Amino acid sequence: MQYAVGIDIGGTKTAIGLVDANGQALAKTTLPTNPSSPSHMVDEIAAAANKLMEDSGVSASELLGIGIGAPGPLDTKRGIIAEPPNLRSWWGFPVVDSFRRHFDSHVKLAFENDATAAALAERWIGAAKNADHYVYMTISTGIGAGIFSHGRLITGATGNAGDIGHIVIDPAAGLCQCGQRGCFEYIASGTAIARMASELLGRPVTTKEAFELALSGSNAAAEELVRRVFRYIGVGCVTMINTFDPELIVIGGGVSQVGAPLFDTVTDYIRHHALNPSGRETAVVPAALSQDVGLIGAAALIHIAYK
Ligand code: ADP
Ligand code: ZN
Repeated sequence: MQYAVGIDIGGTKTAIGLVDANGQALAKTTLPTNPSSPSHMVDEIAAAANKLMEDSGVSASELLGIGIGAPGPLDTKRGIIAEPPNLRSWWGFPVVDSFRRHFDSHVKLAFENDATAAALAERWIGAAKNADHYVYMTISTGIGAGIFSHGRLITGATGNAGDIGHIVIDPAAGLCQCGQRGCFEYIASGTAIARMASELLGRPVTTKEAFELALSGSNAAAEELVRRVFRYIGVGCVTMINTFDPELIVIGGGVSQVGAPLFDTVTDYIRHHALNPSGRETAVVPAALSQDVGLIGAAALIHIAYK
């Protein structure tokens, strides 16, 4: 059997897993992401990966490669973490070269943005098996997408394709951290829902609480806010449908856990607003993989993407 190590670098934690050729994680661990010293963090990740192999009895010769997923913007062509807002001290860090120093030259290294890796995982063992035209959308702290078209990952020139969180949806809505106004992420991410609900109710409200208030029918203003957000997510899906003509959209990330109210509203929006008749029938389903999606996707970069 051949194995890959999948590494999912996040703003607060990094997940590392030893994954077999069937997408099963034999062993996994997490480390807090070191915000100040990326090269020290890479040393720690490499040590943790070696320990997972040792503990599982996997030898160095069975290690096919190391897949790395990280938040964008990045530059996969040069193997660099470019400018992720949640990893400021990592800006410009040559993450691929840094991992190279820890592993034999026969070990492959692959690097893509985290939403692209998650899209690959869902297609490998999740909700999008065998889908050749499909978009994975994550609605979490931010919003991003991974795109499959004609059976191939669409990554762009530098690995940043699918940064749909910064498609402008409502310029009147306010200033996004990217400098544009009314970005998708600014009005429909988990962060945005909590911000808007807190402004509305005049006290700190979490995304989950905003959903509870809205869906129990106990607060009409919260209900209106949440319905508006779900419609915005529908707008994002229609934009993807009109651009890529997918057969399937998979939605993951913390916000998707609200379930049917979101999926029903989005499906209804698509039925009415996708431009072409077949697009109006596009299936929208929840992601099948949850917290391991990042590391499995990173491992999938080695097992299936670059074979
Ligand atoms: P990350 O962005 O770090 O990948 P998540 O995918 O869990 O993490 O997304 C975090 C966002 O999702 C937060 O805004 C959080 O409030 C929201 N969220 C997490 N779980 C739920 C839930 N069960 N219901 C609604 N929102 C949730
Ligand atoms: Zn923006």
